[in-house]
Amino acid sequence: MGTMKINPEHEFDGQLSINPSSSRLLDPEEFRRQGHMMVDFLADYFQNIEKYPVRSQVEPGYLKKILPDSAPYKPEPIEKILEDVERDIFPGLTHWQSPNFFAYFPCTSSTAGIVGEMLSAGLNVVGFSWIASPAATELESIVMDWLGKMMNLPKTYLFSGGHGGGGVIQGTTCEAMLCTIVAAREQMLEKVGRENIEKLVVYASDQTHSSFEKAVKISGIKLENFRIIPTTKDTEFALDPKSLSRTIEQDIKSGFIPLFMCATIGTTSTTVVDPLKLLCEITKDYGIWVHVDAAYAGGACICPEFQHFLDGIENANSFSFNAHKWLFSNLDCCCLWVKDPSALTNALSTRPEYLRNKATDTEQVVDYKDWQLSLSRRFRALKLWLVLRSYGIDNLRNFIRSHVKMAKHFEQLVSIDERFEIVAPRNFSMVCFRVSPLALGNKQVNKFNMELLESINSCGNIHMTHALVGGVYMIRFAIAAPLTEYKHIDMAWEVICNHANAMLDVN
Ligand SMILES: *Cc1c(COP(=O)(O)O)cnc(C)c1O
Repeated sequence: MGTMKINPEHEFDGQLSINPSSSRLLDPEEFRRQGHMMVDFLADYFQNIEKYPVRSQVEPGYLKKILPDSAPYKPEPIEKILEDVERDIFPGLTHWQSPNFFAYFPCTSSTAGIVGEMLSAGLNVVGFSWIASPAATELESIVMDWLGKMMNLPKTYLFSGGHGGGGVIQGTTCEAMLCTIVAAREQMLEKVGRENIEKLVVYASDQTHSSFEKAVKISGIKLENFRIIPTTKDTEFALDPKSLSRTIEQDIKSGFIPLFMCATIGTTSTTVVDPLKLLCEITKDYGIWVHVDAAYAGGACICPEFQHFLDGIENANSFSFNAHKWLFSNLDCCCLWVKDPSALTNALSTRPEYLRNKATDTEQVVDYKDWQLSLSRRFRALKLWLVLRSYGIDNLRNFIRSHVKMAKHFEQLVSIDERFEIVAPRNFSMVCFRVSPLALGNKQVNKFNMELLESINSCGNIHMTHALVGGVYMIRFAIAAPLTEYKHIDMAWEVICNHANAMLDVN
């Protein structure tokens, strides 16, 4: 009774008691203070975002020169850290949320997306199995059905469809592709015998995103068995069903086993749409698993006028798109639907004793750990739920349509200037263009356009990136950053013209 318990904190060297609030990992009042400060910091950032060069102008290694070699031993105040963010980190940022960002594909934020991330980070639950946070699993299944209905996906992909299908939120398309290849691989090997793994063949076009190649590399499929079907200008660089059919026939004759095909709705270089319906008519006969990758363009498919691009998906096996690209849901949020989730879970499930529970054992629940690569998973559904509820389907469609309208406006600006040309059909909110050979006399066309792009990007007013398709170097102008308005499109065009003028006059 008489022995006094010593609080270990009192034995410490006294440093911690100087600032008791920051010495606790999660002090509610200190969190409130810093949280408000951070929101103000970001709100100011969005207000001032146009002041910064859109593409970072630093040299490699710039940060190592200005930051200390070691982490501090003593606590530092958030005020000081935020000052350093502005002084040291901001110059090394490419400002993806800038209204003048037209590079790559957009990675769209929104107020709902950001506060959704915040809520998810604050709760910080790990929903690997249902029991580990039932709401995390159940909300995910519900929002994936909501979203599937918004895109008019066939019922066979939805939990509510009653055919066993369903959706899951993963981090990236690459993960979704890897999981589906592995699901298809296991399904096939069970049928044909494991010794035949060397004979499995996968198909894609030369316009398919490199994340598919990465997934194939990891999947254990032989890289020599990755058939990259060349595309041509004749089919506007879409995967040609006849070439696919010929390649499959040849493979079968040579004793290979066709396993998997990746079709793309909205390729990364030029937003080409592969003819899904025709492709699936071919693959159906061979039992090939078809994955549909709509990483960017999938967002547009919440609008009825874009849903025809998904015709044929009823004969595919899986479909994914990144809601963080063009559905305002902040990185990361890749939505994947599969018709037959048991193919995924057969390939990916593990049942360690320490995760056993009654709900799992009775198989009444979804355990999303068996639908993905990792065990632990974030509560991303919360973010998507906030985005869908905060804006509503009508507004989300309006956002998409406004981006498409701005792209049409830009397309028009380019078309009426005879020094420029549009070099790929515009399907969504991206325009591919270049200075036309006619305006360049005997100058090298690709080289000129490459230099034009670099000249524009180094000035920092706007940021665009390029593609090289069929030997043509083109500048990509992708619209969807959340702050972009018509005036930014007009300003961008002015910047492009000014740089082109200067280069055309000088030489
Ligand atoms: C962006 C993109 C990807 C890559 O997505 P990750 O989520 O980064 O893996 C894949 N396919 C297409 C068509 C893309 O545009």
